[in-house]
Amino acid sequence: MWVICMKWIHIATLTAAAVFIFGCYAFSSKKCKGEGIGPALRRLLLWTGSGVCSYALAMAADTQFFAYLFYSLYHIFILAMATALVVFVREYTGIKALIKYDLRFIGIASLVDMIILLVNPFVHWVFRLKTVKDVMGYPFFTIAKREPLYVFHFCLAFFLLIMAVFILARKFVGSPKIYKLKYASILASICLVMGGHILYLHMHFPFDYSILFYAAIAVLMFYFSVFYVPRGLMDRLLYFTIANMKDGIVCVDVDGNIAHYNQPAADFCGGADLAESIDNWFRQHPNAQGNDEATWKESRTINGEKRYFTNNYKRIYDERRKYLGCFFIYHDRTESYRRLAEEKYRSSHDGLTGLYNNEHFCSETEKLLAKAEDGEYAVICGDVKNFKLINDIFGFEGGDELLRQIAKKLSDTVGSKGICGRLSGDRFAVCMPKADFNEDDFRRLTAQLSTFFGNDGFKVHMHFGVFDVTDRTVRASLMCDRAILAISTIKESYHKVIAHYDSGLLDSFLSEQKMISQFEEALSSGQFVAFIQPQITVDGHILGGEALVRWHHPVRGYVSPAMFIEVFEQTGLISRLDRYMWELACRELRKWRDEGLTDHYISVNISKKDFFIMDVAEVLISLVNFYGVSPHCLHLEITETAVMNDPKKQSAIIEKLRNYGFVVEIDDFGSGYSSLNTLKDLNVDVLKVDMGFLTKTENHQRSMTILKMIIELAKSLNMEVITEGVETPEQVRFLTEYGCDVFQGYFFAKPMQVSDFEAKYLNA
Ligand code: C2E
Ligand code: MG
Ligand code: MG
Repeated sequence: MWVICMKWIHIATLTAAAVFIFGCYAFSSKKCKGEGIGPALRRLLLWTGSGVCSYALAMAADTQFFAYLFYSLYHIFILAMATALVVFVREYTGIKALIKYDLRFIGIASLVDMIILLVNPFVHWVFRLKTVKDVMGYPFFTIAKREPLYVFHFCLAFFLLIMAVFILARKFVGSPKIYKLKYASILASICLVMGGHILYLHMHFPFDYSILFYAAIAVLMFYFSVFYVPRGLMDRLLYFTIANMKDGIVCVDVDGNIAHYNQPAADFCGGADLAESIDNWFRQHPNAQGNDEATWKESRTINGEKRYFTNNYKRIYDERRKYLGCFFIYHDRTESYRRLAEEKYRSSHDGLTGLYNNEHFCSETEKLLAKAEDGEYAVICGDVKNFKLINDIFGFEGGDELLRQIAKKLSDTVGSKGICGRLSGDRFAVCMPKADFNEDDFRRLTAQLSTFFGNDGFKVHMHFGVFDVTDRTVRASLMCDRAILAISTIKESYHKVIAHYDSGLLDSFLSEQKMISQFEEALSSGQFVAFIQPQITVDGHILGGEALVRWHHPVRGYVSPAMFIEVFEQTGLISRLDRYMWELACRELRKWRDEGLTDHYISVNISKKDFFIMDVAEVLISLVNFYGVSPHCLHLEITETAVMNDPKKQSAIIEKLRNYGFVVEIDDFGSGYSSLNTLKDLNVDVLKVDMGFLTKTENHQRSMTILKMIIELAKSLNMEVITEGVETPEQVRFLTEYGCDVFQGYFFAKPMQVSDFEAKYLNA
């Protein structure tokens, strides 16, 4: 069948289509850069444009060879376009299902087809051309005969088109309604291409109209990929976006009526009428109409729960700035508000007890003191005695439970009058007005806690240090340090609960620190010297003396051991000082021995800390051996508190020392807590009774009776008795009466330099 065919109109149409397609190509190069759909689209446009061009050239060709060449190229580009279409459709739909099939055979078949088409101008295996004339009488070449290999080419191209149809159909079926249009239009175009081509073949048209459908597909693809956003799709998308937003949105039209809102907006009204609430807002913000936008924060109680919002109001205009309406956004930030509040709480509170942590306690204390106009304040710090031991015995769970209990009791005690915090470990702090601070409350608190682990178990004891705030500009951490310093004055005591800070305490703390720092230098430069206080029988016979350390300080002169022994005991330095003193005593004894004086002994003191730090027996034995002195001449004074720490171990050491020949004495007998117990467990040679404990007693007669009994007891246990601190002739008289053998005290002589001792007692 013949249809109207006008050669030059067809060529012009094809040329225009090609120009348009290459224009699209250039545009998409700019618009869709990078991976994905862009390259696939460009390939499709390129091959389609090339196919259209080739067809136009084939029609325009005036020699048979060129006509063959361009018709071959046209068929090659058709194949390339069909392949590009499949690739593009896969990208476009996101369906990569075909990947799982091995499609290499298509590639090979396409290659073979292309080679055959390229040689067709010479061999005419695919098609043959003939010249026809259009209605105007213009001649052009058209396909006259199709060889069997044309069927191969045709099937291959159709196979690819069917593949594209298959992918699109799958996508079409599975897509929401609003997306179907874009797949449907491409599907229809491909179907038209296939139908047009079959028609062209069947009707033997001189012009293949399907090429125009190919061009249409490419342009459609370009349009859908680059520009097309269906109106309905946009509306639906916006609708669902707003509906799915967590923020509440209300759109108000130009007349002030609600045009649209989502569920969260209705919920945030807490059951109230939305329109009414918007009206209220406008009434409360009469100036809102003049402002393009506004932001404000508010909190609302919704279903009994307080919620926090950040809200926006914005007016909307069209492109010509005509007012269209406005919208409200209600952003619920309750969660982030809570998270923030939790973080703030965590960073300022102690996780275990819920009290303020160290930093926050200090800053709150400073704020409180700055705010409080009058009244005096106190910072009270508390510390649990032997908390480490509590953790060891009752485990961390037990320790934690105790800390929680302390925190609760402290909070109950302080109430709203002040603030409480946990500074660290077992350290607590309180800041409160002095008028409200009642020491008895804190004593009661300690008493209640004492049986925390059960009546028969470990007794918990707390100490509190009180710092009176005189200068409110002092840093709170410093106030705590000072309160803690006050605790250090009573920390060994089980009777005292509260200690007050005074400036002398700081001075003594600082001077203690100074002494510690000067210890090394003092020891190495021989600043520690031994004084000796004689031990004498009642008839004036000198038996020996006690070596008592003095610090011959370059600035302070002779410093009494009362000033430093305890400090060195706390730091463990005492063992080095004691060893030094023992060595001085041994050297002295050796000197005496060399002078033929072997009847006198020197008593040295052994600190309770020495037993923890060194092997006391080992050190003493090696010293007497080194200096070649008799251990009988070295008397060892051990306090009963030293023995009480671990009586079994201590007894063994004492036994070892006695067996070696040392004379062991219990020093300061009567000043400890379980003197009689000590006597029961320990086998020692001498009992040194401390006169000090007698002077403290009010009932003198009873003291005398006790002293008498002690002396008798010692005698019956085969121990010698030395009474120290004897100051008066009366004391000497009644002590002699009671049976005391030896005395040490100011009545006879004060501690003196070794040279004086030698001159006075040994060279006589
Ligand atoms: P202590 O071992 O009980 O020594 C006796 C203390 O009583 C000495 O004080 C002595 O001067 C003092 N004293 C003696 N007679 C009288 C008296 O009639 N009236 C009074 N009021 N006091 C008297 P000192 O020398 O100040 O020593 C104090 C304490 O220091 C000693 O008590 C001892 O515990 C310790 N100490 C002294 N030297 C050393 C040492 O080298 N090592 C160790 N670990 N402690 C030492
Ligand atoms: Mg002593
Ligand atoms: Mg003593």
